Amino acid sequence: MAKEFRTLKTSVNLPYELAYGPIWTRFFDGLLNKKILGTKCPKCDRILVPARSFCPRCFVDTPEWVEISHEGALTAWCLTNYRYYGQPVEPPSISALIRLDGANVDFLHLIGGFDLGDFELVRRKVKNGMRVKAVWNEERKAQIFDIKYFEPV
Ligand SMILES: [Zn+2]
Repeated sequence: MAKEFRTLKTSVNLPYELAYGPIWTRFFDGLLNKKILGTKCPKCDRILVPARSFCPRCFVDTPEWVEISHEGALTAWCLTNYRYYGQPVEPPSISALIRLDGANVDFLHLIGGFDLGDFELVRRKVKNGMRVKAVWNEERKAQIFDIKYFEPV
């Protein structure tokens, strides 16, 4: 019979600092000023949001900046009603893909602005294709939660 060993449950704290670089810096500075910025691919004309330095389809640089609408359509969503490590907001929350008007890719953010505690109510209210608009935080810090969430229009 194999010997069983004792285990120690612990966690590792790994603080780090991520340099945004010029593209993300400009994108997040846009959020600070209530602007959602994308970049346009000169080859396929797709507008990428959040802004990217190159088109991942064409592999060419995307030097042209475009300001994008604060409104769009919900393309996918997921309600989370439990806690997990590193969670950016308290549950319940709805993570969502949003196709902002004028953009050609989906933007990952949260849906909110109404009671998320009753799943049946949420299921009746939240539908793919539903129009949503950005709700801005009063205090912005040049980070993704400068947009508090997107709420139904
Ligand atoms: Zn392209």
